[in-house]
Amino acid sequence: KSSAPLLSVRGLQAWYGESHVLHGIDFDVNPGEVVTLLGRNGAGKTTTMKSIIGVMAKRQGSIRFDGQETIRLPSRQIARLGIGYCPEERGIFASLSVEENLMLPPVVKPGGLPVAEIYTLFPNLKMRLTSQGTKLSGGEQQMLAIGRILRTGANLLLLDEPTEGLAPVIVEQIGHTIARLKERGFTIILVEQNFRFASTVADRHYVIEQGKVIDMIPNAELEANIDKLHAYLGV
Ligand code: ATP
Repeated sequence: KSSAPLLSVRGLQAWYGESHVLHGIDFDVNPGEVVTLLGRNGAGKTTTMKSIIGVMAKRQGSIRFDGQETIRLPSRQIARLGIGYCPEERGIFASLSVEENLMLPPVVKPGGLPVAEIYTLFPNLKMRLTSQGTKLSGGEQQMLAIGRILRTGANLLLLDEPTEGLAPVIVEQIGHTIARLKERGFTIILVEQNFRFASTVADRHYVIEQGKVIDMIPNAELEANIDKLHAYLGV
């Protein structure tokens, strides 16, 4: 691709208090790509996402989104540029209905999906509109967490382990959803432990180890690199 990357991360460092956890993360994501961040527990994948959305209080380096440097912007402003985040714990409010949860995040940018389209993408949600957040299955909560960032107008979606704890049939549904979002032109960064799943949806994979990107594997070369990947992930 000749187009400039949508997101470009260079020399990213981050700290939790005194604890230095990212030691110079470098990677690019091109417009319309699905890219995964793979790595063992504690490697720094979630911290990388939190740095991109600006919630790591202490971060350093360069994060350019759509040509603009964001490393010093507050998270509210970063969100308005069009970056949406689904945390690992999904962040569904148990006391709110599906519809209320969906409407919760503010629209940050034109181009968000109309609610009717979100229900077309996730028919289960439509049937559950008035259900409380607590009544949803893990898969439904994940769909709701994705659905509500689609409304905001974000065009870069950061999904932290969307398949965690879900049954295989639901994992497959999430895979189809990601494929449809890619077709619609969304750019997606996925944190995954399950590289089997990652290989069904992603264009490229970045491997993070101890706060650094140590490898990049195009999806087409994943099979050929499977032993290396097993060693990286300790599986
Ligand atoms: P996981 O899949 O376990 O979330 P990860 O690759 O996403 O793994 P991070 O959550 O980014 O890893 O964690 C990176 C490092 O930062 C780990 O050593 C972790 O213990 C530490 N860490 C994470 N969150 C905090 C926090 N709130 N306070 C202090 N240290 C933290």
